[in-house]
Amino acid sequence: MVINPKYFLEERIKLVESLRRKGIKDERVLTTIEKVPREIFVSDDQKEKAYIDNALPIECGQSISQPYTVAYMTELLDTFEGCKVLEIGTGSGYQCAILSVLGCEIYSIERIEFLHNKVKKIFASFNIKANLFLGDGSKGLPEFAPFDRIIVTAAAPDIPSSLISQLKIGGKIVIPVGSRNEQIMTLVIRSSSNKYEIIRKDSFRFVPLIGEEGWSNE
Ligand code: SAM
Repeated sequence: MVINPKYFLEERIKLVESLRRKGIKDERVLTTIEKVPREIFVSDDQKEKAYIDNALPIECGQSISQPYTVAYMTELLDTFEGCKVLEIGTGSGYQCAILSVLGCEIYSIERIEFLHNKVKKIFASFNIKANLFLGDGSKGLPEFAPFDRIIVTAAAPDIPSSLISQLKIGGKIVIPVGSRNEQIMTLVIRSSSNKYEIIRKDSFRFVPLIGEEGWSNE
């Protein structure tokens, strides 16, 4: 990734301190958040708010997740160098960039063409490595399966069965599951070919996962 590491560095250090106070412990995740410039992923009129720990609106009625949420999900995802990760909901590209800088081989899918194209341009300008796709990610990406990890950054009514079938044994899914208004962050661990452990964590609020194995587009 090519950036001026000193730009907004003080703001990023303060953000990381606040994430530590809120309970994020994984030093790899914190160091990566300190490195990745969030301002390049927010809309032009929101740049001065890039390091406030809030979700922010992006184009097409979508949002860039709160840094705390990104840190929480990344910590729970528990990646390793070379880990093959599928992300559903590229959105602004920020979560995807964090996973790429963490050394993951990342496949990210977005259903809105405008956002997909915008992220492609940002990633090309900053030399961020990721495989970006346009389409309905609720069905996963069967042609590139299986994955070590799957992260869903939109609210799902249930855990999509397509995603479960695209996970390696020992693999993990992190997904917010619940109603359109409130979801429980859920960790799924595939312990054998037909066994899954499901661990429910804290409550969050995401935009809906729209698609065949998500919500309808109403
Ligand atoms: N990971 C994003 C980031 O770092 O900015 C947050 C994304 S935003 C909370 C959720 C995204 O999921 C939106 O851009 C939305 O268009 C996308 N989305 C919703 N349903 C989808 C689907 N079925 N397939 C792919 N993307 C979807």
